[in-house]
Amino acid sequence: MKRKFKYKHSLGQNFLIDEFILEDIVDASGINKNDYVFEIGAGNGALTRCLLNRGKCVVAIEIDKRLMPLLKSNLKNYPNVIILNNDFLKLNFDLIIEKFEKFGFDKRKNHIKIVSNLPYYITSQILNETLTNPYISELTVMVQKEVAERIVAKPNTKDFGILTLSCNYFSISEFLFIVTKNNFYPTPKVDSAVVKLVKYKKFIDVSNDLNFHINDDENYKKLFKTIKAGFLQRRKKLINSLSNALSKDKRDLSLIFQKLGFDENIRAENLSILDYEKLSNLL
Ligand code: SAM
Repeated sequence: MKRKFKYKHSLGQNFLIDEFILEDIVDASGINKNDYVFEIGAGNGALTRCLLNRGKCVVAIEIDKRLMPLLKSNLKNYPNVIILNNDFLKLNFDLIIEKFEKFGFDKRKNHIKIVSNLPYYITSQILNETLTNPYISELTVMVQKEVAERIVAKPNTKDFGILTLSCNYFSISEFLFIVTKNNFYPTPKVDSAVVKLVKYKKFIDVSNDLNFHINDDENYKKLFKTIKAGFLQRRKKLINSLSNALSKDKRDLSLIFQKLGFDENIRAENLSILDYEKLSNLL
């Protein structure tokens, strides 16, 4: 990386400089020559190169136009890469599929794996978009350590929240390893960690209606409306939060809690995703 390059903190530009950690991430992802890999935020292409050596092909996006010449030059010897100067938040995913099709991707059969050192300021949006996207089967991503802890948190802990429940709904998640801040340039303020999320089969079924999106599913909408209502005032008793936020009669809620065997004094962080599904079904 040229010394005169002005890193943009606002774009989360902290580049991983340790080759061994880059390889550890690719090892942890388990990708092989059959895998279609999507990288969000390619930066200087250091991780991209490791992914290209192991995967079938990589489609990499990078928002910063200034990095394009460097990325292209660093990856010029790889025939199995497509680099796009795009903003993930404005991305039409059909474009990504189209690019993978050049390498034999079949929409009705194949899936895409994400391996990335994420731009941290948009971690939630990226997780939300990718977990709900049926073409994406797995994610191995570096995030802020405290976000990784929230993703894998257990009920009854302070880290357990909407992010945890959303990840638990779609996937099995695993905390892989910590990467301390001195492994990045420029050095960020916080440590990072790599997590892996493997989505449940039912959320990657592309054999049926490809126009269907989980965001349109009434049960899904109701479930997350319930969860968000519960966590709106996480220090209060769940029954009170739900009653206030959903305008429900407390006596009705009390009966539902009894039916499900839930203590009336529980708080939002005491229920698992399965408990929330049962609760939402009865509301
Ligand atoms: N892949 C490199 C690495 O592992 O060192 C860089 C990772 S760095 C943490 C995140 C990268 O995401 C930066 O290069 C940044 O410019 C890029 N980025 C930030 N916002 C983005 C967005 N909305 N869409 C695509 N890329 C983005």
